[in-house]
Amino acid sequence: MVFDMQIIVSEIPDNGLEYELDIPVALLNEAVRNTVHVYIEIQKFGDKVLVKGNAKTKLQVACSRCLKESPYPLDISFDIEYIPLAEFSDIDEHELRKTELDISFYKDDEISIEELIKEQLLLAVPMKPLCSPDCKGICPECGKDLNDGACECKTEKIDPRLAVLKKLKK
Ligand SMILES: [Zn+2]
Ligand SMILES: [Zn+2]
Repeated sequence: MVFDMQIIVSEIPDNGLEYELDIPVALLNEAVRNTVHVYIEIQKFGDKVLVKGNAKTKLQVACSRCLKESPYPLDISFDIEYIPLAEFSDIDEHELRKTELDISFYKDDEISIEELIKEQLLLAVPMKPLCSPDCKGICPECGKDLNDGACECKTEKIDPRLAVLKKLKK
């Protein structure tokens, strides 16, 4: 079965579509395509389209403290209802917010599976990823990775209260 990244809504058969495959998706960097293993089920109800499934990949994510890149496995599930964009204006926004469903919109009879996968995976990437919860980061003075040991810089700022204690001890 040939997989098209663009689903043509009017061509979705009554019994739906189901795919399991690897697709290359540019996630964090347009120049790098990550292979994403995708399982997806597509069902059409009138002009509504239900897309559900899961996606797995491994990203190289830079630690927000030490900037070292490490593999970050992603394994997400999604369950999204697509409605035609034009119909949106007819829906009470209040009603829309009350529902727990993920709602998305399509226009021109097309749904981009690549966009969907990309969006869902990026939502799962933490804003400030860490290589480990106790990562020490890099020294702001010399740039040494403090996880490999302390540097020679005298950057430690002495708490004024501790400074007083030190004086008292003398
Ligand atoms: Zn780190
Ligand atoms: Zn340093």
